[in-house]
Amino acid sequence: MRLSRYFMPILKENPKEAEIVSHRLMLRTGMIRQQSQGIYSWLPLGKRVLDKVNAIIREEQNRSGAIELLMPTLQSAELWQESGRYDAYGKEMLRIKDRQDRPMLYGPTNEEMVTDIFRSYVKSYKDLPLNLYHIQLKFRDEIRPRFGTMRSREFMMKDAYSFDLTLEGAVHAYNKMFTAYLRTFNRLGLRAIPMRADTGPIGGKLSHEFIILADTGESEVFCHKDFVNFDIPGDDTNFDDVAGLKAIFDKWTSVYAATSEMHDEAAFNAIPEGERLSARGIEVGHIFYFGTKYSEPMGAKVQGPDGKEHPVHMGSYGIGPTRLVPAIIEASHDENGIIWPDSVAPFDVVVINMKAGDQACDEACETVYAALSKAGKDVLFDDRDERAGTKFATADLIGVPVQLIVGPRSIASGEVELKNRKTGARETMTVEAAIKRLA
Ligand code: ATP
Ligand code: MG
Ligand code: MG
Ligand code: MG
Repeated sequence: MRLSRYFMPILKENPKEAEIVSHRLMLRTGMIRQQSQGIYSWLPLGKRVLDKVNAIIREEQNRSGAIELLMPTLQSAELWQESGRYDAYGKEMLRIKDRQDRPMLYGPTNEEMVTDIFRSYVKSYKDLPLNLYHIQLKFRDEIRPRFGTMRSREFMMKDAYSFDLTLEGAVHAYNKMFTAYLRTFNRLGLRAIPMRADTGPIGGKLSHEFIILADTGESEVFCHKDFVNFDIPGDDTNFDDVAGLKAIFDKWTSVYAATSEMHDEAAFNAIPEGERLSARGIEVGHIFYFGTKYSEPMGAKVQGPDGKEHPVHMGSYGIGPTRLVPAIIEASHDENGIIWPDSVAPFDVVVINMKAGDQACDEACETVYAALSKAGKDVLFDDRDERAGTKFATADLIGVPVQLIVGPRSIASGEVELKNRKTGARETMTVEAAIKRLA
């Protein structure tokens, strides 16, 4: 992508309305734009990051055996009357009427709709287990939308729903998602801690929130310091291994971790003082097992091996991609801007032409830009007619992991400079060596 032809509306000044660093940086770099309160457009740079986050979420959901579909944003109120949640959900639900005066709503979550899909097709235990997920916009009319897309009214969610014949099956489904979440957040460059949680309006019995520690987080959390050193399940994790996944769950729930709603002061104080962590956190994911709460009233039953009909045991599993993007920035930035982890960076490398119009510089830039693009890299080429200082500042601000700098003096001896955004380390090498390193 040539920056001169791209759409990346960088702001010169820090936007006044932004209270936290991620919101400030997302506005300054032109990643997002507020369209009305708590409702955002994702501009091209932001969209790239969001797509990369979603790709990792999708890969890990698929790896665990979940199957992707896509349900609509608008739902009929009837389904929610069946489950009894239409009245219970309250003011966070945006209720609409269509031209025939039928009550509709913008889905805040999808338990009812997915249960309806399930009951329409699945009749036998032989078709279980099943886990269906989608990545779709949700709407919750939050009383206090704030911090940009961290708490917006319209937001994206990956929501998965599991169906099992028995409690034991449902617990294994829960452990699959638990493990997939550990892997997902790790690949996004985050350390998320699973914490015992309240189940809220989703209802149910077993529940964990995945929390990123951050000073600007809205939740008050308490946990053991050991979490920092726990191993993340590897690529070779076998999601069909019931005992293996239970061992991962047991390990990651073996020491104290709770949000303020579930906090047990006495249990926390039993931990030696130096090993206690009392902090603020951002909820980036939440998993629930809720048994037959929806399958019972909505008649989602399958025939068991005993020939009888059984309501299925269900769980639901959410991740907030549009909250994760600012959460990653909260965890990874400095005074000059964002520092993207490689896995979600909008571009892999930015090529900086220090002197656009200089023949040697222009030629070298075109060469590396073509070679790296051909190698499948996402390359941003800063070909603008701007001062070098402005280009360096832009590159630091938008946080691309590697800067490839082409200047008139070094190119005279066939050399360019590589700068690592995170460490600031610089290396000089030939054009060929730089291409070889980055391709
Ligand atoms: P919160 O406690 O922050 O209000 P929640 O507990 O209501 O979140 P869940 O119903 O558990 O949210 O939804 C699953 C995930 O969706 C959350 O863990 C979060 O990542 C994301 N999410 C929920 N509400 C919002 C929102 N208003 N803006 C952005 N992401 C959200
Ligand atoms: Mg909420
Ligand atoms: Mg919550
Ligand atoms: Mg929650």
